[in-house]
Amino acid sequence: MPEGPVRIERIEVFLYTRPLKREFWMSLAPITQSREIIVRLTTDAGLQGIGQCHGGPMEQVGRIITEPFRDILIGADPFEHERLWSEMFAYNHRPGWSLNGWRHETIMTAIAGVDIALWDLMGKSSRRSVCKLLGGLRTEAEAYATGGYYEEGKDVAGLVDEVGVYVGERGYKAVKLKVGRGDLAHDLERVGAVRSAFPQIDIMLDANQGWDVPTAIRAAGEFESMNIRWLEEPVHWYDEVDGLRRVAESTSIPIASGEGETTRFGCRDLVKWGGIQIMQFDSTVAGGITEWRRVAAHADAHGVKMAPHHDPQIHVHCVAGAPNGLILESFPNPDRDPVWAELIVGAEPIVDGMMSVPDRPGLGYDLNWDLLEARATKLETR
Ligand SMILES: [Mg+2]
Repeated sequence: MPEGPVRIERIEVFLYTRPLKREFWMSLAPITQSREIIVRLTTDAGLQGIGQCHGGPMEQVGRIITEPFRDILIGADPFEHERLWSEMFAYNHRPGWSLNGWRHETIMTAIAGVDIALWDLMGKSSRRSVCKLLGGLRTEAEAYATGGYYEEGKDVAGLVDEVGVYVGERGYKAVKLKVGRGDLAHDLERVGAVRSAFPQIDIMLDANQGWDVPTAIRAAGEFESMNIRWLEEPVHWYDEVDGLRRVAESTSIPIASGEGETTRFGCRDLVKWGGIQIMQFDSTVAGGITEWRRVAAHADAHGVKMAPHHDPQIHVHCVAGAPNGLILESFPNPDRDPVWAELIVGAEPIVDGMMSVPDRPGLGYDLNWDLLEARATKLETR
């Protein structure tokens, strides 16, 4: 434990946007840029807690953290993270207080960035990793490679070559491919080719909400014979609970969802009514590690495993710390995820599909502050 009181005395937010070299298509939309919102909380002892979050509008997320959240955070003890979380969350439903047009999702993203920085500070103050603060259940977690995007000029052979890099050179034992763009026959050919070339690996499929329910049920039926570890977000956004349940009931392939959920309440409904077996709640999109922990506990009581979306450098602590922690997502292609290579410093590498929990205080990695100071938009308050 810290030797004296810990007080937050400075809040900085960096808004960083990085265009990608080319478009990486999912079912309905391309990914054209990487965007990171970085929160840095500095204490009176000079310790710095860092949080990363993802959502938008980025400027609004930054302003929520440096303006209304300022009065909650400055002078506060990070070890009171549940109290701070509750006070931040109250901005979603505060009587007489205008949301200034801010959406709940935007507030939940702001909470995510702050909360993760608080956990980093708690770890650094107590000289323990975040995983140890969460109970220190394991010292490593499995990770999979996400790829298989639709790219201009990439054919089925190119897709097989791409997976070959993840499996052969990088040692991954599980790979997730994008599906849902164009006709189903084309996806069956793509996934079938990967399955034939790599019979030993786990294959997951992510439709990114690209199908209506009948198409999703048909697709799940067609993919049954390909030994698919999970099918992720098969159904359009407007029917993502009951429609998802109908897909889940139609297939033996486990259904995964939750990367876009903003609270434990939405996650509860996916578990209770959506028929999912894999929960993908992302602590950097909403709510932070404090909310992730609640989601994981509820999921565990219903036999649902945790496979959080994105950011293995953060989620390794969560997955290794939770009884139902399953696997981490990672992006080995630097063209798809340049942030990992240029912004994140000193994170544990993923070797043969495994990531160690860093045996260092806090989250156990740093960021390239020179790059952020030079290229990011910065908001600051104290
Ligand atoms: Mg996904």
